[in-house]
Amino acid sequence: MRVGVIGGGQLARMMVPAAVELGIDIAVLGEGPDASARLAVTAIGAAGDADAVLAFARDVDVVTFDHEHVPQPVLAALVEAGVAVRPGPGALAHAQDKLVLRRRMDELGVPQPVWAEVADEAQLTAFLDANGGRAIVKTPRGGYDGKGVRVVTTGAEAADWLADGPLLAEEVVDFRRELAQQVARRPSGELVAWPLVETVQGGGVCREVIAPAPHSAGRIADLACDIAMTVAEALDVTGVLAVELFETVDARILVNELAMRPHNSGHWTIEGATTSQFEQHLRAVLDLPLGATGCRDPWSVMVNVLGGPEDGDLDSRVPGLLAEHPTAKLHLYGKAPRPGRKIGHVTVTGEDLDDLVFQARAASARLSGTA
Ligand code: ADP
Repeated sequence: MRVGVIGGGQLARMMVPAAVELGIDIAVLGEGPDASARLAVTAIGAAGDADAVLAFARDVDVVTFDHEHVPQPVLAALVEAGVAVRPGPGALAHAQDKLVLRRRMDELGVPQPVWAEVADEAQLTAFLDANGGRAIVKTPRGGYDGKGVRVVTTGAEAADWLADGPLLAEEVVDFRRELAQQVARRPSGELVAWPLVETVQGGGVCREVIAPAPHSAGRIADLACDIAMTVAEALDVTGVLAVELFETVDARILVNELAMRPHNSGHWTIEGATTSQFEQHLRAVLDLPLGATGCRDPWSVMVNVLGGPEDGDLDSRVPGLLAEHPTAKLHLYGKAPRPGRKIGHVTVTGEDLDDLVFQARAASARLSGTA
């Protein structure tokens, strides 16, 4: 069996060891020879280049994704050519366009922030007036890591983005914390969930994940799991689905957005769960039986490593990190360390949550050059 992954980022890279273990061939359509997943890159081309994508797909049994930026016409061409595309174009549309997602969640009765589609400054001003004078505006497509997300108090503050088309306006959610629920679903219907996790964002970028989310036994975990399973089934998602959630100060769980691929909130599963999200994604898209999703240790803490201001000597810091933090599991993505860019992560697992958080932060800081 041969899986083709479109996009050569760190998610494709981290599918490679899982493919090796399962005895599955993996081929990656990478953006260039220095792609993070370069060890498995078999073809170079852009995700928007239909000819390159179709040629790549001819040699694989199923096509899946490292990111959601494959245009719908390219996905349609794949389906037309008889390629198994997982998740399919209809599901992916909800991870590609935040307005499509919001409309569908309303139809399903899934709780989410108050929102509106706004086409001009007057409509945004009306939304602001109805929602306490502040709003989050988002470009419907193409945003990631907080790019394409802005807090505004006047319609004029979004004039530049409105010139390019309608925007999503949302209430500014008063959240206690952010959570993420991951599930995996295979075409024949089997559906499994990992424990709910807590995610901590800084500047729109995921910084830390704690698994399972502290103080989440009982109703919160049940609610989050029900939401993710409802979404996975209703949208016919195949592969791994991450549902980003807000837990509000008044104890509601609201859907922020979806990712239909392995996700930063699930990196902890490599060491912390019986089946990692990368292995599970491969099993799911190949319609193989899914693996167990329980925790191997009581707690897992994952902290991202972001590029610092002067990162020329990242490599020289690795031996120090390995020596000082022998229990930390290091994952480097082989990416040039530009400031603020995700270049790796560290995970520690064990029994003492406070100590694990401290260790993981210290290890990440050691590598970022900030400690
Ligand atoms: P991206 O596609 O860049 O990941 P998100 O929609 O996930 O964008 O937003 C990035 C971050 O901005 C979220 O993780 C959250 O911290 C904050 N955010 C997004 N939407 C809202 C909202 N409606 N209210 C409050 N904070 C929000």
